[in-house]
Amino acid sequence: MKVVLATHNPHKVAEFQQIVAATRPDLEIVAYDGPEPVEDGVTFAQNALIKARAAAEHTGLPALADDSGICVDVLGGSPGVFSAYWAGQKKDATANLELLLDQLRDIADPHRAAQFHATIALVVPGGAEHTVQGIWPGRLAHRPAGPGGFGYDPIFIPDGQDAGAERTVGEFTDAEKQAQSHRARAFQALIPLLAEL
Ligand code: IMP
Repeated sequence: MKVVLATHNPHKVAEFQQIVAATRPDLEIVAYDGPEPVEDGVTFAQNALIKARAAAEHTGLPALADDSGICVDVLGGSPGVFSAYWAGQKKDATANLELLLDQLRDIADPHRAAQFHATIALVVPGGAEHTVQGIWPGRLAHRPAGPGGFGYDPIFIPDGQDAGAERTVGEFTDAEKQAQSHRARAFQALIPLLAEL
């Protein structure tokens, strides 16, 4: 079955392809190259639906879209839906994470809790619309580490690691990230809904 993935972010396309290959190898994910809608929602779910609806309408195929970001407890859940633009409209990943680190400069580990959030929307042309959510809990590091991943990965330390051997997602392998990420968790929740297609 062919499903269009409504994202222009090459990192997300690659991650989706790895997650789908491991869980639903029968799905053929095609990249969306149509017009990008204005993401004027104020929740992950609203923005994911805006993107999936646009791709379903443009291609006539069932469409998936992910809207995601990092939510920091001490900042009341920000950057949240503004994660891509936290340091301005340029979508500069390094500037974004440097600003976030600077904002939490004096905050100690027990108060650095954060979560990666991903909402995936599934829109069937002329049919059903669904959203599912995945959350990956952890905390912010004090400085970036690791060459892997994208966005805020070098400053996010997922929970559940051995004390003294904790790593940022930037230090994870692709397979480690795709086995437990917010995006993978959301995709797990989507699998029963895909079966209805
Ligand atoms: P979106 O493309 O509008 O959903 O923006 C998502 C933004 O959230 C990205 O630009 C990243 O800054 C951040 N983000 C989402 N998922 C991840 C991830 O898996 N790792 C690191 N940063 C992420």
